[in-house]
Amino acid sequence: MSARIIDGKAIALGVRERVKGDVAELAPRLGRPPGLATVLVGDDPASHVYVSNKRKATDEAGMRSIHHELPESATQEELVELVGELNRDSEVDGILVQLPLPAGIDQDAVVAAIDASKDVDGLTATSAGLLAQGRPGLVPCTPAGVMEILVTEGIEVEGAEAVIVGRSILVGRPLSALLTNANATVTVCHSRTRDLGAVCRRADILVAAVGSPRMVEGAWVKPGAAVIDVGINRTDQGLVGDVEFEAAQGIAGAITPVPGGVGPMTIAMLLRNTVRAAATRGAGSSV
Ligand code: NAP
Repeated sequence: MSARIIDGKAIALGVRERVKGDVAELAPRLGRPPGLATVLVGDDPASHVYVSNKRKATDEAGMRSIHHELPESATQEELVELVGELNRDSEVDGILVQLPLPAGIDQDAVVAAIDASKDVDGLTATSAGLLAQGRPGLVPCTPAGVMEILVTEGIEVEGAEAVIVGRSILVGRPLSALLTNANATVTVCHSRTRDLGAVCRRADILVAAVGSPRMVEGAWVKPGAAVIDVGINRTDQGLVGDVEFEAAQGIAGAITPVPGGVGPMTIAMLLRNTVRAAATRGAGSSV
């Protein structure tokens, strides 16, 4: 058996088209397009590319991109002050501070300054708390993208055994809350997990979010399982995921490739979060 390869690009495109429709409907009610503010600090080339892609996607969705760039020498106080201004700006619906920030700046303090109603990255403690309690709020983009893939692909989550390898604040932890809220039985693995292979083999839904090339072995996949590979690793062979793709593909029922799986979902969900934040803040309703 060979697994169905999940087309993340196509799913992301579908989300972006729906966002565009929501923006067209919402903008006249708000009297302005929804606005996403991006904050970029320093000269990290990868961060510049990521922010530029996010801004382009924001424009393409019919939203307004508001961009602030600060030099590497910017202080934490300056950043927190800027975030405060963006919190007060009624034309800003979402605030994205590109991470990582330069050494010497307390990332947590900057993220904590973001108003939870504009926290389109879903990284504040308030957003994380709402998610953990199963209450409405803004959800981190990559795990939201994983859930969108599962729903679009018709993969049954309710009652399923889900195993997540990785417990980061960005991916593993919020995803475990999302899957729990969707009635899966969730196990979260990490670097101290004993016999990782045996735990993974229980999974109907296996998510790898480790950041270690091909470390999740094909032999750890339960026959017919859905395998979602969040990993993005640059190697001499190009971009590879956290899963041994070819071996896993021979056993799984469905699998995301790298690239072209979870990757494209992240920006799509950022746009969706922004339009949702705008709808909730601006019109007292949600899209
Ligand atoms: P991270 O913060 O480095 O977390 C990695 C997690 O993997 C940690 O919980 C760590 O355990 C666990 N881990 C490390 N080695 C392990 C091992 N040998 N066995 C079991 N668990 C192990 O990484 P992240 O930010 O979540 O990112 C994970 C991957 O996803 C990276 O490749 C990243 O590039 C990718 N990513 C992709 C997107 C996207 O848009 N598709 C977005 C975000 C991240 P401990 O907690 O015990 O240290």
